[in-house]
Amino acid sequence: MKIAVIGAGIGGLTAAGLLCQTGHDVYVYEKRNNLDQVGAGVGIGSNVLKALKQYKMAYAIEQEGQSLRKIEIKSDLDEFLNALMMNQDDNLNVTIHRNVLHEILKTHVPKERILLNHKLTEFKQTPDSVRLYFENGVEEQFDLVIAADGIHSVVRTNIYPKSTPKYAGYTCFRGVVNEKLNLEQDEALEYWGHKGRFGIVPLKDNELYWFCTMNAKENDLQFKSFEKPHLQAYFNQFPNEVRKVLDAQEETGILQHDMYDLVPLKSFVSGRVVLLGDAAHATTPNMGQGAGQAIEDAVTLTNLISDRDIESALTRYDKIRTKHTKKVILKSRKIGKSAQTSSTLKIKIRNKMLKKLSSKSLSRKVRFLQKAKLK
Ligand SMILES: Cc1cc2nc3c(=O)[nH]c(=O)nc-3n(C[C@H](O)[C@H](O)[C@H](O)COP(=O)(O)OP(=O)(O)OC[C@H]3O[C@@H](n4cnc5c(N)ncnc54)[C@H](O)[C@@H]3O)c2cc1C
Repeated sequence: MKIAVIGAGIGGLTAAGLLCQTGHDVYVYEKRNNLDQVGAGVGIGSNVLKALKQYKMAYAIEQEGQSLRKIEIKSDLDEFLNALMMNQDDNLNVTIHRNVLHEILKTHVPKERILLNHKLTEFKQTPDSVRLYFENGVEEQFDLVIAADGIHSVVRTNIYPKSTPKYAGYTCFRGVVNEKLNLEQDEALEYWGHKGRFGIVPLKDNELYWFCTMNAKENDLQFKSFEKPHLQAYFNQFPNEVRKVLDAQEETGILQHDMYDLVPLKSFVSGRVVLLGDAAHATTPNMGQGAGQAIEDAVTLTNLISDRDIESALTRYDKIRTKHTKKVILKSRKIGKSAQTSSTLKIKIRNKMLKKLSSKSLSRKVRFLQKAKLK
């Protein structure tokens, strides 16, 4: 089948790589003039590596990733609240530099099939084909179009004009440092406090990535101008580990993004156009599943296209992925709401509940991730 993938992000490149591997004629169109990635670390859950297992790229991700066994949640006063055990079965859970992940995914798509400077502006459908129109004047016809063009997807906006990203109420800073902390190499830490959250996650080769989230207005000018000293001042009451990480951060290289998700869509498919990744189901990063769900979409779509005729494959993809990713969006939103509360009373109740809950019960709350249907 002749397939176009719009967007060379994590979702688009995974889909293109898997579909090339299964014998399809695939072209990736990317609006930017390069594939450089801006980002820190990214978590790839065991659910995702399990889904990818039968495909070649899983091996490289496991090799280049740092295995993550647990995430400890503490209060901003360094009080232990609970721990989420990550390896719920035999599959690895890893963290990886975003750039490294992107490099791995890229190697599975022939270089000449990734077309840069191709911004999709419009598409027109017949019952069994789609014609694409790019800003640079190029037009091309395909049997199937996979729209992996991110949270601001032009394809989704065309199909669902009212589906716009919903601001979550908090902003996020991220960075990568080379610092040795008093932490096991396969353990991450999150501190939850009145002023926000601070997370420290190991990467391979003694690097680690950090993130912090604080409640803010959308496009809040106060935070837009934040640099390293502002973050150090903001978190100076947090435990030592936080201060050490911020001290180790270079003045440059700090990323800031407001957090958004999408109201779950009823369908990801319109004729021969299929939405994938953030274009379909952008979620807040509280479960570390945005990229993972994009990869799961790609695996599911590839499995189904290999097994069934195209109409039946798309119907099945739509059914199982809308249902599963809706759960991820809603659960992630709920975690964010609880983790970001600044009400003293609510924090007291939340922390008490977290301390009472066994680690097993906490892990059970995200067990549904392991149960995604992949065909
Ligand atoms: C702070 C933060 C932390 C995160 N942490 C994690 C984590 O730990 N684990 C995890 O799994 N996920 C995480 N995520 C989510 C993850 O980054 C995204 O879910 C993932 O990158 C989505 O991939 P995608 O390919 O769908 O979209 P994108 O990565 O947004 O890629 C879309 C691509 O499409 C291109 N494009 C857009 N429009 C057009 C057009 N019209 N024509 C052609 N090309 C176009 C863009 O240039 C881009 O290259 C995090 C996100 C944030 C913001």
